[in-house]
Order: sequence, then structure tokens, then C-alpha cells
Amino acid sequence: MLDPRTRARLADAGAAVSEQVPLSDFTTLRLGGPARYLAECSSTSSLIDVVRILDEQGVPLLLLAGGSNLVIGDDGFDGVVVRIATTGVDVHDDHVRADAGAGWDEVVAATVDAGFGGLECLSGIPGSAGATPVQNVGAYGVEVGSVLRRVRLLDRRTGQDEWVGPGALGLGYRTSVLKHTDTAVVLEVELDLRSDGTSAPLAYRELAVALGAAEGERRPAAEVREHVLALRRSKGMVLDAGDHDTWSAGSFFTNPVVPDDRLPGVLAAIAARVGEDVRIPQFPAEGGTKLSAGWLIERAGFAKGFPDADAPARLSTKHTLALTNRGEASTADLVALARRVRDGVEDAFGVRLHPEPVTVNCTV
Ligand SMILES: Cc1cc2nc3c(=O)[nH]c(=O)nc-3n(C[C@H](O)[C@H](O)[C@H](O)COP(=O)(O)OP(=O)(O)OC[C@H]3O[C@@H](n4cnc5c(N)ncnc54)[C@H](O)[C@@H]3O)c2cc1C
Repeated sequence: MLDPRTRARLADAGAAVSEQVPLSDFTTLRLGGPARYLAECSSTSSLIDVVRILDEQGVPLLLLAGGSNLVIGDDGFDGVVVRIATTGVDVHDDHVRADAGAGWDEVVAATVDAGFGGLECLSGIPGSAGATPVQNVGAYGVEVGSVLRRVRLLDRRTGQDEWVGPGALGLGYRTSVLKHTDTAVVLEVELDLRSDGTSAPLAYRELAVALGAAEGERRPAAEVREHVLALRRSKGMVLDAGDHDTWSAGSFFTNPVVPDDRLPGVLAAIAARVGEDVRIPQFPAEGGTKLSAGWLIERAGFAKGFPDADAPARLSTKHTLALTNRGEASTADLVALARRVRDGVEDAFGVRLHPEPVTVNCTV
């Protein structure tokens, strides 16, 4: 598929090109068949040149960084997987600039270690800095969009390389104009920091309780980071090669937003199943009311660890919302589990769950 001349141009652009590479080695789920080609780019200029060359030739291309939000089919990807392997991180007085490929938690740690606040609630999220705007990553009451100063984008339609503000990204709940589209590559990000070293106001009850603080209070960023990491570890949400509960793509389903006209029917269906006196977690959201996907899954009959210890793919034993590979699963196993859970919730409550990760050559 790659003619020798194009392959030589990729090498000249600084990419390390290999063939028939198992993508399971590059995803946190440890799933995914082979990439026909893998082109690893360890400098931003090489990344730009490689994407421009492939787009010019019309070669199918998949961007991959940390592989922590990707579900890739067992047949792999019949094109070029461009692995973003840049690493630079520079902490300045009131902001940090990071290459797209820099490990996100390394960015957070570098800012906290240098005495700055702002990013601590996003500690422990796997993957790269460049992917954080793609789905507007968020945790413990903070979304990256609230601290994003600007993003350097390579526009794949025009070939232009320019910095844009967060307003150009259409950031929403686990989404942006970059997700599920091939329009642009994030090359670098810049994020605002608090120079007094205090955290963002605590906006998540569980975290505030763990810190012995009130919601809305600020605490030293280093202390908040420590508690966030501890909470995340207790839910299997920090990568650990020895713990299959972390062989996941994080939360598999987004929290569903139910439109106002459908809400009474959904709440009635939930109450009929769980009892009138049980409090249903619900939060106001754009377009309706947000329900908790994890809570719905559990109440629909899928407990942590579902279906059982022998299943190749099962719900995490620490967190209902994470679908995990126990070591021998295929993507087909994981997708079958995802469908079973999604359909079970829909049958029980009339609410359809949607996957949060990006699926490639597979459909949930
Ligand atoms: C254990 C665990 C916990 C998690 N917890 C959270 C959480 O708390 N909050 C949260 O929001 N997410 C969470 N996630 C999901 C995931 O970590 C984030 O979405 C992360 O930002 C993905 O980064 P990545 O580099 O691994 O992206 P990848 O998986 O490599 O790519 C994801 C998508 O982004 C595209 N992409 C990657 N880099 C770029 C780029 N530079 N430019 C353009 N497109 C690009 C890819 O093509 C793909 O479509 C979790 C995942 C795991 C495994």
C-alpha cells in the first residue's frame, strides 16, 4: 500500500516505519490487531511532515498517542498508524507548554513539583497531553477546557499549522470538534497555571471529603494531587500493568443526558426497579438531566466484576464503568460485553448508553 517512494519520504521526514505491528502493544486495553504500518514520530516537525505526506497521498491514517481511549478491532488497521512520540514539557511562570506526545500525568506532576496549581484534579489520567483537548478530559470536577490557554493545531484540510484558543475547539462533555473527526492534529498545548500553588476550587464532594475540606475551598496542589491519585487507584483508574482492573479505556460509557420530555418516564422506570425511596443521582446538564452511567449499570443488574472471574472481558472489580481485558480477551469479547451492558440498561430503564472511547474497525 505504501509505495517505496512514499515510504522513503516518511523515513526522510524522521519517522521510524515498521510493518505488521500488533496494536495491542500500544493500547491500555491491550487489544487491537495489527497496523499495516506504524510510523513513530518523535519530533513535532516529523509529525507534521508525515501527516502532510500521507494526506497528500490519500493514505488512511490513524493518530495514536497513549492508546488509552482507543478500542481497535481484532483485524487491526489497514493503513498507517502515526504514533505521536514527542515528549517536551516546559513549565513557565503562569503556564505550561507541552508537546502533544508528552505523558499527561508527567505534565501535571512537573507543574505541581514546580509549585504551581491548576491541573492537580486531572492527576493520574493516562495518555498524552495532546489528546486531552480531543475529548476535553475531566475528573474530580475539573475539565481540561477550563485551564486550556491555546492549542497548536495542524489543520489537515488546509495544511495550516497555527495556535488557536479553546473557543475554536467546540469543547463539551467528553467531546470536541477533534473527536471522531480527522480534521486536525494537536501538536502542542498550553495550559494556565496558578502561581500561588493552590488547587482549583474543590468541586467534587468525594475529593473534598477525602481532604477534610469544604466544596469550593482551595488546598495546596500537591496535597490534592496525592488524594486524587489515591482515590483513582482505589477505583483501578491509574494504570498498573500488574492489575487487570486497569487494562481498560477508563470509563467505557459517558453519563447519559436525558431530555426533559423523557425524564419523567425514565425516572419512573428506575423507581419501579430500584424502589421509590432510593435517591437517583441526577445533575442539571445542557440538553436535559445527566444521570450516572455507573449507577444505572449497577442498578440494571451488572455488578462489579460482571459476568464472572473466568470471563476474558469483564467489568472491573473496582469500578462498574470500566470494561477490562483480563489478559486473554479479544476486542470481540470486549465489544460483546459492552453491548450486553448497554442493552441491559436500555431494557431496564429506556436509557441508551454511548461509548466514550474512540472505536476503530469495530462497532459497539
Ligand atoms: C485507566 C484509565 C483511566 C482514565 N480516566 C479518565 C478520566 O478520568 N477522564 C477522562 O476524561 N479520560 C480518562 N481516560 C481516557 C483517556 O485516558 C483520555 O481520553 C486520554 O486523554 C487519551 O489520551 P491518549 O494519548 O491515550 O489518546 P489515544 O487513545 O492515543 O487517542 C484517543 C483519540 O484521540 C486521537 N488523538 C490522540 N492524540 C491526538 C492528537 N495529538 N491530535 C489529534 N487527535 C489525537 C486519536 O486518534 C484517538 O481518536 C482514562 C483511561 C484509562 C485507561
